[in-house]
Amino acid sequence: MLRYATEDDRRRQIIEATIETLAEVGFGATTLALIGRRAGVSPGLVSHYFGDKDSLLEATLRHMATRVGRTASRRLSAARTPAERIRAVIEANLAPEEFDRRTGSVWLAFWGQVIHSQRLRRVQIVYQKRMLSNLRHALRALVAPAEAERIAVATAAVIDGLWLRATLSDPHETDSSAARAIAVAFVESAVEAAVKAGSLPAPRPTRMSNIIRNHVGGRPIDAADRKTFETVNPATGEVLAEVEIAGEAEVEAAVAAARAGQKKWARMTGAERGRVLKRVAELLRARNDELARLETLDTGKPIQETSVVDVLSGAECIEYYAGLAATLAGEHVDLGPSAFGYTRREPLGIVAGIGAWNYPLQIACWKSAPALACGNAMIFKPAELTPLTAVKLAEIMAEAGVPDGVFNVVQGFADTGRLLTRHPAIAKVSLTGEVGTGKKVMADAAATLKQVTLELGGKSPLIVFEDADLDNAVSGALLANFYSAGEVCSNGTRVFVHRSVKDAFLKKLVARVKKMTIGDPLDPKTQVGALISAGHMEKVLGYIEKGVAEGAKLAVGGRRVTAGALARGAFVEPTVFDGCEDGMAIVREEIFGPVMTVLSFEGEEEVIERANATEFGLAAGVFTRDLARGHRVVAALEAGTCWINHYNVTPIELPFGGVKRSGLGRENSRAALEHYTQLKSVYVALAPIDAPY
Ligand code: NDP
Repeated sequence: MLRYATEDDRRRQIIEATIETLAEVGFGATTLALIGRRAGVSPGLVSHYFGDKDSLLEATLRHMATRVGRTASRRLSAARTPAERIRAVIEANLAPEEFDRRTGSVWLAFWGQVIHSQRLRRVQIVYQKRMLSNLRHALRALVAPAEAERIAVATAAVIDGLWLRATLSDPHETDSSAARAIAVAFVESAVEAAVKAGSLPAPRPTRMSNIIRNHVGGRPIDAADRKTFETVNPATGEVLAEVEIAGEAEVEAAVAAARAGQKKWARMTGAERGRVLKRVAELLRARNDELARLETLDTGKPIQETSVVDVLSGAECIEYYAGLAATLAGEHVDLGPSAFGYTRREPLGIVAGIGAWNYPLQIACWKSAPALACGNAMIFKPAELTPLTAVKLAEIMAEAGVPDGVFNVVQGFADTGRLLTRHPAIAKVSLTGEVGTGKKVMADAAATLKQVTLELGGKSPLIVFEDADLDNAVSGALLANFYSAGEVCSNGTRVFVHRSVKDAFLKKLVARVKKMTIGDPLDPKTQVGALISAGHMEKVLGYIEKGVAEGAKLAVGGRRVTAGALARGAFVEPTVFDGCEDGMAIVREEIFGPVMTVLSFEGEEEVIERANATEFGLAAGVFTRDLARGHRVVAALEAGTCWINHYNVTPIELPFGGVKRSGLGRENSRAALEHYTQLKSVYVALAPIDAPY
């Protein structure tokens, strides 16, 4: 403990010296040597603690952002009303200490660099997200969710603008207290105007339970600093629960629990582990309805999907690996009469799983099932937008007899994820997320040479040849774009249709899209539910606007849905763009919403080349009656998973994963076992050693 305290002190001292140096000489002239001199340590010691200059600067920015975050948390916990909470955020961000010349110049130096450095940008995004989420939470108690989002964004901009103006201009123009008064007046008038215009807050929650805690060592634990975030039903804006954030203390507790649990778990035979996992699968099936409902509330996905896919596909996966657990084996190697060799397939130890928000429970199962079957312990972090069902999985694991510490859930934002990806005791990390996050995770994992499995984004092609059964191809295109409101990584959002059948295809497609039912996700008739959040809806609508501006033609959809109670949620019509060109942003970038782009082509070689002209390589689909062509084309497509005359089916027996920037490694099937085990080779001598000495 003492050693850590000293290391921490030393790190803080170096960070303080970095702040002083930045304030004095600016970004470009700051060097490790200058910082070391100021801190009274050698440049070598600075790099021992922080690696290179970029890592030290990132740690310094994180330190400054955390300081503001802590001040905000302190003030927020003392606030009693929503108005006081808004003031608390403003006061923390425009506090007098953020205005002093030294701190101001360092913040300015960092913000200037953010556009050049992805690492600093990431810290800035977390910082901004936190400010926005605090404002949004307080505002939701005063106005409707959409208005709360709008006013939160505007207030954050006012705060940033005031700070910037004050820092850059004459010191007497605006000081901290004047800036705070202006920001408070701004929010008050915006809220007043919204209320006058009839904007009412969403009904307050019937809370599922007061607080969701981190699940460590087989039980919920209290978080040391009690910081929480809210999880919201994106269909109504209703707060579902408050969730405690795991910081260093909780991650350390999870690692300690996993270490102890894994030893016990790995000593069991594969057949014994399989038996326990089979019980987990049975419990998941038995609780399908309750879990599907919870998943629908947390994600906004229609109950008609979650009740037949999300929970059951997770259960199927656990059942599959329960069966494989007893089959794990090494190899016997004949080395002649005087020796033989064999290999042992051993677990890696403690592994981390980090999940995305689109299939929260399924992702938790896809990662934990092979990991646990192979004798590892897992620490899983769900996306902060969907924290609820992973905790249920942990409870079910405990009930089924999985030893304490073998499956732990820690909650939080990217900071919590990083505590896992950087932890020296964790041997592997499996991430499902965006390409940018994958790069970060891989870089962080490199410091301790962790293995990684990365399931990342895509912009997959779906090719419809002129001989395809068009009704079938339309069914495939619908499945490839509108399931889970389009929030599926493998979606075939670039639909290439042969010029000779494009009009007929489009006519059938539009007619079927028009019949789709958008509505309350809990209504079994609803086919299209809400997007994951108001923020994500804005991103999707932004892409639709961009598509129109770039000259694509809206064939159907394109608008937010605000009829009746849906106005409270993040609903967007299933949208089809015709007249698309390969270079358009809507054709190149992952939108992760219900937006299909239709492109036309003439030749097989041409379409293969265009389909492959992307940095992604997650999936691809081909519709044709000519099976020889089907096989020929998928062989030429650069994608990890391909379908011929179908789309988006992912049986557990087939490997799933991407090529190019869409990922590394595979989930599902026997292939995943390779990623959760390591081989030990053993040489056994059968004759005396023939030593030459
Ligand atoms: P993100 O990449 O934003 O987040 C994924 C997870 O990583 C979250 O739990 C997030 O935490 C965490 N995280 C973010 N930054 C870091 C970091 N630096 N270190 C460690 N952890 C971090 O993805 P989304 O949740 O937005 O999911 C959508 C993306 O996931 C899409 O690109 C989609 O294509 C992809 N996806 C891929 C799949 C596949 O199998 N290939 C399947 C499903 C989705 P938090 O969000 O809590 O801040």
